[in-house]
This record gives sequence, C-alpha cells and structure tokens, in this order.
Amino acid sequence: MKKTKCSICKEIILPDLDGWDGGHNAEPINSGICCGSCNTRVVTPTRIMLYVKNKEKRGTNNGQKKES
Ligand SMILES: [Zn+2]
Repeated sequence: MKKTKCSICKEIILPDLDGWDGGHNAEPINSGICCGSCNTRVVTPTRIMLYVKNKEKRGTNNGQKKES
C-alpha cells in the first residue's frame, strides 16, 4: 500500500470512513493532495472564501460579463 503524505500538515493520509485513502485535492492551497482533516479545516473554507471574493469582484464589474 502506497503511503501518501498530506501536502499541508505532512501527516500520512489515512483512509476516509468510506475507505478512500487517495486524499483530497489541496487546491487552492497548493497543487498537491491533502488529508481529510485539512480538507475540512483548511481547503474547503479557503475555497468558499475565494468563491465569495470572486462574487464580490464580479459585483463591482457591472456590465462586463467575464466567465473564466
Ligand atoms: Zn493534512
């Protein structure tokens, strides 16, 4: 079994409750893989924050629809 380390806390990624041990996408923190707890505590809140920021940016960009 290949042991993958979390790119955020550097701990070995343990399987999730459903048996998945491949970790989670750590973006936008970095381009690696992270463990379940970092995904919940760090990655997901950061994604939400970026999403909200993006929304605010679009709000001030009236008239210009820019989809990435
Ligand atoms: Zn971690």
